[in-house]
Formats: sequence, C-alpha cells, structure tokens
Amino acid sequence: DVKEPKAGGVTSKKMHSQVVIIGSGPAGHTAAIYLARANLKPVLFEGFMALGVAAGGQLTTTTDATRNEEKGRTFPLPGIRTPGSSEMKQAALAAIASQCRGNGQRPVPLFEYVNTDKPAAAALKRNTDGDKGLEKVENFPGFPDGIGGSEMMDKFRLQSERFGTTIITETVSKLDLSMRPFKYWREGEEDDETAFETADTIIMATGASAKRMNLPGEEEYWQSGISACAVCDGAVPIFRNKPLAVIGGGDSAAEEATYLTKYASHVYVLVRRGELRASKIMAKRLTAHPKVTVLWHTAAEECKGDGDLLQSLTIRDLQTNETRDLPVNGLFYAIGHEPATNLVKGQIETDSDGYIRTIPGTAQTSIKGVFAAGDVQDKKYRQAITSAGSGCMAALEAERLISEEE
Ligand code: FAD
Repeated sequence: DVKEPKAGGVTSKKMHSQVVIIGSGPAGHTAAIYLARANLKPVLFEGFMALGVAAGGQLTTTTDATRNEEKGRTFPLPGIRTPGSSEMKQAALAAIASQCRGNGQRPVPLFEYVNTDKPAAAALKRNTDGDKGLEKVENFPGFPDGIGGSEMMDKFRLQSERFGTTIITETVSKLDLSMRPFKYWREGEEDDETAFETADTIIMATGASAKRMNLPGEEEYWQSGISACAVCDGAVPIFRNKPLAVIGGGDSAAEEATYLTKYASHVYVLVRRGELRASKIMAKRLTAHPKVTVLWHTAAEECKGDGDLLQSLTIRDLQTNETRDLPVNGLFYAIGHEPATNLVKGQIETDSDGYIRTIPGTAQTSIKGVFAAGDVQDKKYRQAITSAGSGCMAALEAERLISEEE
C-alpha cells in the first residue's frame, strides 16, 4: 500500500528542491544524471562517512588512498594511523574532511592509509599490480579493461555535475516524511527544529554495507584476501586455483561458495551450527560439490597473512574446542548486509531484514513521493549495474510524479 502524506507542509526558507537524492553510489548518481538532464535541478547529498562509507559509496572502498593522494584530492594526515580504533578513526576522518573542505577539495576517505599501518608505497604497489589487484571493477559494461572503483565513481560524479546536479558533501541526519513537502536536516543540525530544508520528492540511495566479524587480522587483510562479494572479487588472480573459505550458513553463503568453486582449488564453508539455513536445494548442491568441504560447528578466530595478503585462518571446532590453522588465500563473508535505513526507520515499510520495500518493478516506496534505489532496497543482486538501473527507475518515476503534480 502506498500512503499519501498530507499536503500543505511548511516550505523551507533555507532551501527547497523538487528532488533530493540521499546517497552517492551508482544509484544516487544515476538518478542525478537523469534528473539533471530533465532540468529538475536535483540536489544530491553525497554523505561523509555515513555508515562507515564515504562519498562515492561502496566502490570507493575498493581503491586505496595513494592514487587519490597523487591526484591531489586528499592527503594523509601525518601521525594519524588508527588500526582498529574506531574513535580515533572517526577523529582522523573528521580531520581529513575539514582539511579537505578548507582546501576546496572533496574528502575521500583514506581507508588503507588511515585504517592500517601499511606504508603508502605498499598500498600503491598493490594498487598498480595488475596480477594481484582486488580493486578493479571488471563487470561494469563500458570499461573493457576494468576500472578502479574510486575512478569509476569520480566519473559518475563528474557526469552528475556536468548536467547541473548540486552535490553537497554532507550527511542527511533526519527526515520527516509525514507531510509534503518532506523535511530533512543535515548532520549537526538535527536538534534544531527550524533548521530543516524541504523537498517535493526524495530518492533514498543510501546503500548498504557488508556485515563484518571484526576478527583479529581482519582489518589488515580486508581487500587483501578478505572480501564480502564473491561475484565482485572471486575471479581475481589472487584467488584463482587457491583454497578459499566462506563464512555463513544461509542462502547467500551457499550461493557464494558454489560460485567460488569456478575459480578456487577448494572451498571451505565454515558453519557455526550443525546444519545450513540455506534452502534445501541450495544446501544439497553445495554439500554435493566435489570442491566443497563444509566445516560444521566451526568458527573463525583470526585472519593471518604475510603482511601483504591473507594466508590462513585460525579456526575453532566448537564441539571439541580445538583450534587449528586452515591455509586459505581468500575469505569471503556471507553473513549479511546492513542496509542504511536509519533515516526512514518507522516511517517507511521495510522487510524483515531492514531493506526498504518497493512495489515490485518500480522504485516506489510505501510513501508517495519517496523512491528507493540501489542496495538499500535490494538484498538479492547488490551490484553497481543493478543499482544504477534502479537509480534510473527512481529518477524517471520522480520526474513523472513531479510533472503530474505541476
Ligand atoms: P552505495 O555504493 O552503498 O553508496 C551509498 C552512499 O550513500 C554512500 O556514499 C554513503 O556514504 C551515502 N549515504 C548513506 N547514508 C547517507 C546519508 N544519510 N546522507 C548522505 N549520504 C548517505 N559491484 C559491482 O557491480 N562490481 C564490482 O566489482 C563490485 N565490487 C565491490 C567491491 C567492494 C569492496 C564492495 C564493498 C562492493 C562492490 N560491489 C561491486 C557492489 C557495489 O559497490 C554496490 O552494489 C553498489 O555500490 C551499491 O550502490 P548504491 O548506490 O546502492 O550505494
């Protein structure tokens, strides 16, 4: 059911837009490109460290900082290296943001540089080493040689801007969807009831992030042998003909592990319980596969490597309590994703996993005038291309509604 919010809400004196897009991944920017070309002057909030993901979305986490540094977009802050400390990490990132803004630059997070102690040179080497790189997006049509995730999102952003999108490097922290126009607040202003801005329509493109386990060693080898997307990373050379592990017992774990058998020498599936939650047919296909070993009642405890790439996992048999090393060159988490829906909690319909519900075949949410696109409403495909596709749908639907109402 689509609810029609009351009309006649207050229009902001600060800023009113026909359409506001929240999120700057492939979904948000595709929506912006369509809306800007339709002359609707979209405003896109690209966010800053929303849900641990910065402007540009998940794909910017595929490339390390060094290239950004070279391009002069951002720079490391000496002395700020914060392995594992989220408080320090936040402080470092906030410092980078304000420094970038001061220089008129766009803040791009320095995940690799800030989160680990790896020297930038090593990061650069990995980034440019075609044999090992995890960072290229190789399945987005139009880039036959692949393209770095950050570079691709830069192109999305340039295209949005070229047609007149206003891009704001801030996070939207509060939404009121009870009346139209809808009200929203920027981060830091949410306690001031009068500080709202308004929009006739809103496109939620806030994305999702993979759940992680925070194992010792995980941060160090994240994207250096550890991934949360088999379809994105399974085919890269560091995983080919190597033993790999998948953690999870549901449908997506079964699917990811089966997918990885195409490339891996062997796939171990680590399951805490004595059974899979996956559907019978998928569980059967998985357990019958000659390249798959399911390790029941097993938990991973530590990720170990050579300082550059993952080499093994310490695993525990939960029945005997014994630990041992499992040599694997890749670890894939399949323990679910967290859609970024805090803004709309309690206001909009979500499914049991928290994803925004849209009417099948459309981008329409349970509130008229609010559309959703990308990973925030898609727990099945979770790809850049499908996100872009749904961003286009959201834009065309917003455009149609605006012109109907004019
Ligand atoms: P996201 O990319 O998640 O972007 C959402 C954006 O919204 C972020 O910028 C976030 O900061 C912002 N945001 C969130 N909340 C707010 C707020 N309140 N205010 C303002 N902004 C906000 N897919 C592929 O097709 N090919 C690949 O090779 C590939 N590789 C990947 C590698 C990695 C490491 C990861 C993590 C994912 C990969 N994916 C790949 C998946 C792909 O990145 C996602 O499917 C896609 O980015 C989803 O796009 P999105 O627009 O829905 O949102």
